[in-house]
Formats: sequence, C-alpha cells, structure tokens
Amino acid sequence: MNSRTRTTTGYAAQAPGAPLKPYSFERRELRSNDVAMEVLYCGVCHSDLHQVRNDWGGSLYPLVPGHEIVGRVLEVGAEVTRFRAGDAVAVGCMVDSCQHCKPCRLGEEQFCREGMTATYSATDRISGEVTQGGYSKHLVVREEFVLRVPDGLDLSRAAPLLCAGITTYSPLRNWDIGPGSRVGVIGLGGLGHMAVKLASALGAVVTVISRSPSKSADAFGLGADHVLISTDAAAMTTAMSSFDLIIDTVPADHPVGDYLPLLDIDGSLVIVGQIGPMGQPSTVPLVMGRRRIAGSLIGGIAQTQELLDFCARKNILPECELIGIQQINEAFERMERADVRYRFVIDMATLAPST
Ligand code: NAP
Ligand code: ZN
Repeated sequence: MNSRTRTTTGYAAQAPGAPLKPYSFERRELRSNDVAMEVLYCGVCHSDLHQVRNDWGGSLYPLVPGHEIVGRVLEVGAEVTRFRAGDAVAVGCMVDSCQHCKPCRLGEEQFCREGMTATYSATDRISGEVTQGGYSKHLVVREEFVLRVPDGLDLSRAAPLLCAGITTYSPLRNWDIGPGSRVGVIGLGGLGHMAVKLASALGAVVTVISRSPSKSADAFGLGADHVLISTDAAAMTTAMSSFDLIIDTVPADHPVGDYLPLLDIDGSLVIVGQIGPMGQPSTVPLVMGRRRIAGSLIGGIAQTQELLDFCARKNILPECELIGIQQINEAFERMERADVRYRFVIDMATLAPST
C-alpha cells in the first residue's frame, strides 16, 4: 500500500452475483486509533457468497468480500497502544461499533444498539464510505477491532477462526457446554467442522447431523463421537430427546422443526446458519419438552480473543484448502455444492500488487 495515496488492490463483485474480478481502490488515511495491516490470508465464508449474490438485500457494490482476515501490522496511528509494526493480527466480521451502548459495554459489539459496522458492504460511521473486506492486499481498522494472533497459531490456517470459529464457539460458551454435554452439529461445512472441533475440545459428546453419509469418516476424524444421517428416519427417531444443544449451520431454508424432537428437556437449537424465513415449525415439540429455538450472531471482540487464545493453547486449527485468489469464483461454486473440506483460505500472496 502506497502510504501517501493508500491505493490497494483486491477482488470485487461489481453487481449482484457477478464473478469477482481484480479491483483497485483506496484505503482511508490512518486515523489516530487505526491500525494498517497487510492481509496475508483470508477465509472464504458462505456469508461472502450470500453477500455477493445479495441474498439478504442491501449489499453495496463494488463489493470486496472477506471477514476472516489474518495479517501483519504495517503502521499504526499516533494513539494506538496495543499494536506495532510486525505484529501478527486478525480482523473478523466487525470493524466498528458505538462503544458506549449496553451491548458494547458488555463486549457484545455485534449487537450494538446503533448497529455494528460490518467489515465489508457497510457504511463507515465517520466518513460514510463503504467498507471493503479482506479479499485485498491491505486493510485499515480501528484498534479496538483488531485481534492479536497468539504465538504458535499457524497464520496460514488461523483465518477461519475469525468467523466460522467464533460463530460456533460463542453459543458453546453461552450455553455453558463442558464435559459430558451432548452437542449436535447440523451441516458439516466451514462452521460445522469448527463446531465439532471446539465442542469436542470443551469435553462435549459431539454428534454430526448431516445429509452426507460420505462425510462420516471426516466427522470422526474431526472429533465427533457419533454421526446421525438426517435423511435416515429410523436413526432420527432413535436419537429423539438426546441433545442439550444443537448448533444449526445450514445455509438455506430448511425444516427446522424436523430437528426439534432431537432435543432433551430444556435443550436448545441455536440457529447460526440461514438468516430468513424458517417455514412453520410446530410448537408441539417446544411445548411438549420445554425445548427452545434460539439464534446467535458471531461473537464479541473479547470472546473472539478468548477463542484465539483457546485455540493456540489447545492447538486447534481449521481444516483449510489454500487457494490462489484467481480460484475464488470456482471456490464459490464448490461451496454452493457443499464440496468444501472444510474451509477455503485465500493465500493473499497470489494477488498482484497495486500499481
Ligand atoms: P458451508 O461451508 O457451505 O457449510 C454448510 C453446510 O450445511 C454444508 O456443508 C452442508 O453440510 C449443509 N447444507 C448445505 N446446504 C444444505 C441444505 N440445503 N439443507 C441442509 N443442509 C445443507 O457454509 P458455512 O460457511 O459453514 O456457513 C453456513 C451458514 O452460516 C451460512 O448461511 C452463513 O451465512 C452463516 N453464517 C452465520 C454466521 C452468524 O454469525 N450467525 C456467521 C457466519 C456464517 P452437510 O453436507 O453435512 O449436510
Ligand atoms: Zn462468515
């Protein structure tokens, strides 16, 4: 990044559903509390695909996706105290929030009453510019939203922790999952495979609930104790009332009600996947078993740092397929076919420098 003009380069979609193509743009001049970083790796989240296609409405174009970002600090603003050039750092799904409302004060910036600023396709709170994500060479982010990558965490594999990791870790922690807890994970993709690894590391008995029998061996390899094939009606009946927590990572509209009978009394099904209508699940399994349906959105900054430290301590890393940025459109297609084992990570060294 040229420090005078701050021109950088990345890959952007110019319109809904358009293929990503090389794109040059400006990063902002450093504010006193900003950190400028070189992006080394960026994970490819299913949300990137939703946003590029404008599945949720409101996507802003040109759109540079990417919110699982790992890199090194290049330069810091005058008032930055926690980082200096050369530090290994990370940025997730948020780059700003009001910092004074109750959720912000409680470290739940993702629920900021004024609305958190997403890493891309959002409006910067100060300049009004559109934020652009981590499928790019450089990033400038307010210090409070920069995470420290602990020593010992392989930088080339850490990126997916910033979204897939925290999105699954947060409900595990908030539902007090520990030794002996019975956890189900619906969908063995990017989020799902992290849910398995993290729940297993917390001591839970973990079951992968998947449509794909071909993923069984992988599920056990990732740390699952059981696999339940959701299309096997007899197995679904046998598994009734046997879970304390189910994390649902399915990225499309699906019959949530089919999974509710799997919960034990007071069990919760936490939706982290699809955002939108969920059909009409019957209240019967809720009423007849004091079961709950809940949702969860990423996690706060402090909890994200806790996750990174936990993963470094326990040596937990996502399963990554490293790709060049030129393969990003093909990676999106494979993700749509559920053909990812289990997270694509872009090696940003493959991106030509800005001119
Ligand atoms: P992914 O890697 O594509 O994995 C999704 C998995 O769900 C697939 O591998 C597949 O697993 C299963 N699946 C896919 N389509 C399905 C369908 N129609 N019916 C049933 N199962 C299906 O996606 P991801 O990156 O993990 O993201 C999952 C979802 O979470 C996305 O919608 C994303 O936007 C959302 N998300 C939410 C948050 C949050 O904060 N709440 C954060 C990040 C992402 P099987 O083959 O095992 O069935
Ligand atoms: Zn994500």
